[in-house]
Amino acid sequence: MRTLIQGGTVVTAEGSYPADVLVDGETIASVGRNLAAAVGGGSVPDKTIDASGKYVIPAGIDVHTHMELPFGGTFAKDTFETGTRAAAWGGTTTIIDFAVQSRGKSLREGLDAWHVKAEGNCAIDYGFHVIMSDVNDATLAEMDDLVADGVTTFKLFTAYPGVFFSDDGAIFRAMQQTGKNGGLIMMHAENGLAIDVIAADTVAAGTTDPIGHGLARYSVLEGEATNRVIRLAQAAKVPVYIVHLSAREALNAVRMARDEGLPAFAETCPQYLFLSLDDLGHGFEGAKFVCSPPLRSAEHPPELWKGLVKDDLQVVSTDHCPFDFHGQKDLGKGDFRKVPNGLPGVEDRMDLLHDGGVVAGHITKERWVAVTSTAPAKLFGMYPRKGAVAVGSDADLVVYDPTRRRTISASTHHMDVDYSCYEGRTVQGASDVVMSRGSVVVRDGEFTGRRGHGQFLRRAVADYARMA
Ligand SMILES: [Zn+2]
Repeated sequence: MRTLIQGGTVVTAEGSYPADVLVDGETIASVGRNLAAAVGGGSVPDKTIDASGKYVIPAGIDVHTHMELPFGGTFAKDTFETGTRAAAWGGTTTIIDFAVQSRGKSLREGLDAWHVKAEGNCAIDYGFHVIMSDVNDATLAEMDDLVADGVTTFKLFTAYPGVFFSDDGAIFRAMQQTGKNGGLIMMHAENGLAIDVIAADTVAAGTTDPIGHGLARYSVLEGEATNRVIRLAQAAKVPVYIVHLSAREALNAVRMARDEGLPAFAETCPQYLFLSLDDLGHGFEGAKFVCSPPLRSAEHPPELWKGLVKDDLQVVSTDHCPFDFHGQKDLGKGDFRKVPNGLPGVEDRMDLLHDGGVVAGHITKERWVAVTSTAPAKLFGMYPRKGAVAVGSDADLVVYDPTRRRTISASTHHMDVDYSCYEGRTVQGASDVVMSRGSVVVRDGEFTGRRGHGQFLRRAVADYARMA
């Protein structure tokens, strides 16, 4: 099966140029001008897709999702089936989700449980990171085996005492282990011990609505924890990746480290670029916007854009972790500390970043491709199989219309959640055709893929993180 994508503008992290793309089976066979003539003469492609006036981009890669995550007595609503289908609609054809090690169990048991949830259910390709809840001799030894099996990245937390929290010694030991096995440590960096004290004080003072969540989780405590874990990584002589960076203070810590030449990397998320602390107001409505770190006040997003432009932030992922407003978020009525933490986002990332980033003039379209696809592929051991429009790469491609406008709404989105954080927001730019390993999975708003098409991705060690 050969498909010719004709007449578009190929946009990559390096540059843009008019070219056709010939897909043969699951991979890209050729990229160049007038491929119809080149492949003619009895070897006509089976199918042609007209991309004139459109971009042809490497499909989105979202390295931070939580399908079916157990949290706060409930589960994130999207399953691997609904969540990966929604991702496809939004032009994303790879996710990396977080398997969770339960306290007292092995890393492998956690990973196996997530394999069971995902296998045969995904519309797009998927990989796993492992959340380490215990750091001990047994789990440290297990890390080496998981790296060898293509699960090369491990997340630890300075937040959520009593749940996911690790102390500095545990974090340092896990980092040392990645120095031996080539893995990469990802950090949720907020000072959870101090935040819990402030949150208790906030509730005691009478603020129980979701705004308290935003007020209690000081940005300076994200900055403190970010600097601390970067310095731990420096001492362990390994790279480190900061997840969902939201605050200027945290960005400053990353900037300083990178200016010193340290391999510190960080992602931010659309919610930190396009939403703010104000969204946490309006009584209990604010629960729709409860995530950690919290949405920040208006002076933070302009700094994050600078970070994206200057490569102090390399990735935009979603931290997709949806809970229904009715029936799940309301577990936190009367105490913001009990609101399940997380927002939906996997479907809207590419369009929000195109509209609010490229169209708004913050970043170039090439930078948009870099932060949504190419850099995540490189940092997470998938490049050049993913994240590239190049001969031999997987045919994970989007024919993207940079002019089409649509209005985001819970009534039309495909994520399995009863609200949208961007309800009524009109965005410019939308995916016309989405291809995953050569199969068209979305075309003109119709899902044409299938459950089970998505394959588990065995990832390489993140060499890129060690060289950059
Ligand atoms: Zn997360």
